Amino acid sequence: MGAEGQKRLAAARVAIVGCGATGSAVASLLARSGVGYLRIIDRDYVEASNLQRQSLFDENDARESLPKAIAAARRIAAFNSQIVAEPQVADLTPENIGSLLAEVDLILDGTDNFETRYLINDFAVERNTPWIYAAAVGSYGVTLNVVPGQTACLACLFPGSPQGTFETCETAGILNSAVNLIASIEASEALKLLVGAQDRLRRTLLSFDVWTNERAELQAARPRPGCRACGEHDFVHLEGKGRPHITLCGRNSVQIHERHRPVDFSEMNQRLTPHGTVRHNDFVLKFWRDPYEMTLFPDGRAIIKGTTDTGLARSLYARFVGS
Ligand SMILES: [Zn+2]
Repeated sequence: MGAEGQKRLAAARVAIVGCGATGSAVASLLARSGVGYLRIIDRDYVEASNLQRQSLFDENDARESLPKAIAAARRIAAFNSQIVAEPQVADLTPENIGSLLAEVDLILDGTDNFETRYLINDFAVERNTPWIYAAAVGSYGVTLNVVPGQTACLACLFPGSPQGTFETCETAGILNSAVNLIASIEASEALKLLVGAQDRLRRTLLSFDVWTNERAELQAARPRPGCRACGEHDFVHLEGKGRPHITLCGRNSVQIHERHRPVDFSEMNQRLTPHGTVRHNDFVLKFWRDPYEMTLFPDGRAIIKGTTDTGLARSLYARFVGS
């Protein structure tokens, strides 16, 4: 890479969407490589059950229910103070993607769902920004480099969401070594893109199972003619019509995310105390009312644990936060 490559890394700006297992690993690798600016976007908070695979966090972060973006930025600052790690505690949506992913050279996938990946894909193709898809579940990982206009995009390979046919972290669990393998490949390809080693980029969808050692590659060197996204520029996911509530991966919970209701935590603390147990810091407020646990963020977004029933979650939110 040389001094010139290192200079390019220092000047590079990268967004990482989702800072769970893959996001943690790839953020750590790029921060230690000297990538000058990392924007870490995550909607969730650290829990003890994450620590098996989410390498930027510790038990203290879980005890404090710190948002993952905040905890990640703090950890990165502690091992590389010469770069900027900017935390964004937010759920990436069609409304905010333009500002959250503005002015970056590369977008990296650390998400756990196809809805967000299609949103990133539409945005990246429209703005002509490269992005790297990466996913891991069970003992298996898969990744794809998308260079708009040159390689296939996510919609070229998967015109419709493969949802429903794939196992989730909830049903299959996840091996931390599968995460680190796929994050290492994602980080390596990111470094090639950032230093301008385009000719070394992998142009396939690569999958690898660390338990069975099965490996597969699917050609992705060229865009698919007639692709909705990169061929016809029909960016349905950016329009974001009828986005459902999201059930998070790995636990029994529902997110209420289409609210725009700034919450005053001390006022909410008083309001909720008669109804259950409340605790808050600057970043999150947690409210326990058996058998549910609600986590509120300052912008009014909430994660309600203890149910997968979106109607019930909506009514709990309306009852305790407001409709
Ligand atoms: Zn395409």
